[in-house]
Amino acid sequence: MPAEAVIVCVRCRPFSEKEKERVSGAKKCVQIQPDRGAVTLQSPKSEEDIKNFTFDAAFDENCTQIEVYNSTARIIVDAVLNGFNGTVFCYGQTGTGKTFSMQGISNVPHLRGIIPNAFNHIFDHIARSKHKKFLVRVSFLEIYNEEIRDLLVKKGKGGLELKEHPETGVYVKDLSGYVVKSVAEMEQLMNVGNNARSVGATLMNETSSRSHSIFTITIESSEAGGGVDGEDRFVLGKLHLVDLAGSERQSKTGASGDRLKEATKINLSLSALGNCISALVDGKSSHIPYRDSKLTRLLQDSLGGNAKTLMIATLSPASYNYDETLSTLRYANRAKNIKNKPKINEDPKDAMLREYQEEINKLKQALEAKQKGTTVIKKVVRKKIMKKVKKPSDSGQGRGSSGGDNDSDSSDDDDSASSSEAEGASSNTLSGLDVETIARLEAEVDAEKRALLASKNMVIEEKQRIAAELEKRAQELEAERQTREHIAKKLAAMEDKLLVGGVNIIDRVAEKEKELEQAQMAVREKKRAERELQQRLENRQELQLQMEENYASLQEEVDVKSKKLKKLWAKVQAAKAEISDLQDEFRNEREDLLDTIRELSRELSLKVSVIDNFIPLEESRKIESRATYDEETNDWKLDKLTNINLSNKVKRPCALQGTKRPLSQFAKTVMMSSEGSFRYYHENILRLKVEMNDADIRK
Ligand code: ADP
Ligand code: MG
Repeated sequence: MPAEAVIVCVRCRPFSEKEKERVSGAKKCVQIQPDRGAVTLQSPKSEEDIKNFTFDAAFDENCTQIEVYNSTARIIVDAVLNGFNGTVFCYGQTGTGKTFSMQGISNVPHLRGIIPNAFNHIFDHIARSKHKKFLVRVSFLEIYNEEIRDLLVKKGKGGLELKEHPETGVYVKDLSGYVVKSVAEMEQLMNVGNNARSVGATLMNETSSRSHSIFTITIESSEAGGGVDGEDRFVLGKLHLVDLAGSERQSKTGASGDRLKEATKINLSLSALGNCISALVDGKSSHIPYRDSKLTRLLQDSLGGNAKTLMIATLSPASYNYDETLSTLRYANRAKNIKNKPKINEDPKDAMLREYQEEINKLKQALEAKQKGTTVIKKVVRKKIMKKVKKPSDSGQGRGSSGGDNDSDSSDDDDSASSSEAEGASSNTLSGLDVETIARLEAEVDAEKRALLASKNMVIEEKQRIAAELEKRAQELEAERQTREHIAKKLAAMEDKLLVGGVNIIDRVAEKEKELEQAQMAVREKKRAERELQQRLENRQELQLQMEENYASLQEEVDVKSKKLKKLWAKVQAAKAEISDLQDEFRNEREDLLDTIRELSRELSLKVSVIDNFIPLEESRKIESRATYDEETNDWKLDKLTNINLSNKVKRPCALQGTKRPLSQFAKTVMMSSEGSFRYYHENILRLKVEMNDADIRK
């Protein structure tokens, strides 16, 4: 399983109308070279301060949504369709186009983002895959204030828990999942989820969301006979489409009060993401702090694990966003070095498709069994009817008896046998016919009942008895029909959920489209290779400068060496600038953290003084002794009172043996002694001792 780097792209959005109006502040500081995947950032403070970055792809403001999709996310979605895990996430400052890239504007076809384009791609692929069955499921969640909320459940309450399964990994307990069968259904779910998102207006962008959202599409497929030993081959691919909250520092958004709490938490998730990336990249840390936040735990597989991951860093072109843009570019630059280990999830443990197919097979068998059951019932019914109805009317005698009727009896049997054979044949085709058969049977029973009632040759009681029997049979048939209808309905509903590949498509068109797509893919691959070559060439040129050369003359050597020196000097300067930039960035980050700490300390001191002044000391101690920290939920939990260790508690005193009421050993001893204190007289108020006065004693 080869390691595979995370694909990192950048996308710069155009100036907005608002920015164009702000003439003074809206200078462009980002230059994109799409053919080289390069970004140049010009510092607004100094003309010479230019920074260069290269990525797997770079998109400028003229790039269309579909171009972005085709050259980035398409590869990931293709992999997911083949059973890999995939993740696409957008990272960047608020207002730079994360949501625009992920979702876009759904009612304008050419402005649809990666998520709706993926829908079309997935269902196109399914329509073209012959001999395969698919099951597509969707879920949509939001992480807001470190709480997970289901966006597809009405009034979805927050606080869903993360759990870990030894084989299938981290999952969200009780998260709803919907089976979808068309692009329209998926879009509807996406819109429902988007409307349910928590939106908080900040100074930077009114509509910007301060939460992270993850849209997950799970695609299971089975290929008949595709596995070892000709068994069905099941694969499962999971696609996470992640729209992160803005990466900007909180001070710039003017967060305060509750907003501040949000901002600290959001920064917690994002800085945890940053820490994971750093730990993955530096190669020295054996511990990756995935557990530090909900986001990193959910994306654990996507970062350094079993997934193909694409990161799109979104940029603003405006020079007043220089600091944020630089920080985003650095973040993206670091992410380039993450190595993943993607593999196809074969025969997955958490697959539903296998369960579905097994259930369908069971239902089919049940239906078949029912079919046979009906035939038997029919046979019995007919036999009885023939015996008791036909005979009397044929022979002209009062009641049907066994003797002498063998011929006609056997012919009846033949009759029913042949019809039951026909029945048996039709039972293999599990269609509406079955229900029809039952209906026909019922009609027959009904007709025969009427014939019976009409026949005059029978004794009344016999008639009634047979009529009752026929009635019972009719009821049985009705019950049979209902169970069968129920099973058939269930079967149809289950089969309906599965998507059968290669259906409803004109083959030739599909083939052509596939060819076209492959050709486009090849072109894209070629372009990517070219870009890589170009980047390598540039590196080599630099190396060449440093290599030993033969010089024709001393002067030439001096020239070349001073040229080299100049270049190296520039490099040293650039490195120095980089170091100072990084130091600045760290200082800012530290200040942010200190600010947060100060704010939290203030809040803490308020809480402490409320507790100190208004809650009795023993009570708060008691509660503290009951509290334990739960690493799983990152929260304090109070043990139940019954769980408290009883040895700490003072035991209730109990009565000594032989005493009438609770009495301590001490009290008893004092009472027994002759000079007992009056305090312990209560047991024996009357003193029975003879009181002697002093004179008597002296005598
Ligand atoms: P974010 O989600 O990063 O906060 P949005 O996606 O909401 O940012 O984008 C902010 C605004 O910029 C939106 O009005 C969006 O339509 C516009 N926008 C972003 N990127 C582009 C782009 N590449 N082309 C045109 N408009 C864009
Ligand atoms: Mg957004």
